[in-house]
Formats: sequence, C-alpha cells, structure tokens
Amino acid sequence: MRTGFGYDSHRLVPGRKLVLGGVDIPFEKGLSGHSDADALIHAIIDAILGALGAGDIGAHFPDTDPAWEGISSLVLLEETIGLARRRGYLVEQVDSTIVAEAPRLAPHIGPMRDVLAGALQTAGENVSIKAKSNEGMGFTGRGEGIAAFAVCVLKPVSG
Ligand code: MG
Repeated sequence: MRTGFGYDSHRLVPGRKLVLGGVDIPFEKGLSGHSDADALIHAIIDAILGALGAGDIGAHFPDTDPAWEGISSLVLLEETIGLARRRGYLVEQVDSTIVAEAPRLAPHIGPMRDVLAGALQTAGENVSIKAKSNEGMGFTGRGEGIAAFAVCVLKPVSG
C-alpha cells in the first residue's frame, strides 16, 4: 500500500462558476484557474500522484497546455486514475478537508462524495470530505480563496 498527500488553493473571483468535488455550487464567485479550478479535486490528484511518486499536477497537466483550458477537473482525475491503474494501483481510500469561509458546503458534501467515488472507482464509504471555515483568519478566512487538503491510500491491483 502507498500513501500520498495533496494541497491546493485557488482565488475566488466574480464571473466564474464555483466547482468543488466535481459539483457546481451556487455562489456569487467562483475559483480562478486554467481548468475549472476545482481545488478539492486538484488536492486529491496531487495526493494520488504523491502516492505513486509521480510528481505533481502541474507536471502532468501544465497550465500552459490549451488542452486543459476550462476542462472539468474530473477529466484530470480520471486521467490520474488511469495512470495509477497502469502502474498497478487502485485508490483504496481518500480523506479530505476543504477550507472555505463561504458558501456553506454541508449540503453539497453528499453529492461531491457520490461524484468522487464514481470517478475514483471506489465505494462512497472510502471517500471522506470535510468542510471547515477558517474562523475569519488568513486568505480563506477573508474569503479571498478556497483551499483543500487530501490524503489517499493506494492498494495494488490484486491478481
Ligand atoms: Mg489547482
């Protein structure tokens, strides 16, 4: 078994859709970035790549590549799962925390978990997503951006 850790953050700006965990979330701002800027999925991708010892998201999906412009991060996650599979690993478990002052994410955690479990090709019970505010402190607390942390465990494909 292998473990990995990932972190990501993106700036909140007007005029962008807010997408977290592959789910569209109604809000007055969205995350700025080359792809859909889904910070949770980016943290999970970095956790998987870390577990594989395969570098980071920027190396695999550079923001200079027009192929990834505006793309759903679910596509990047599926590519990453494909890489893990080719190296002989499946995702056993993911645990994650989103840090956001607003909007309130509790109603969206269930749908995110369903979407991510599907993309990760695992059961919902193997995917944990937690959301916290930062009690007004720092860039997340001031609502300037949203951050996410993730850890994952990979297991060898049995056979
Ligand atoms: Mg990112």
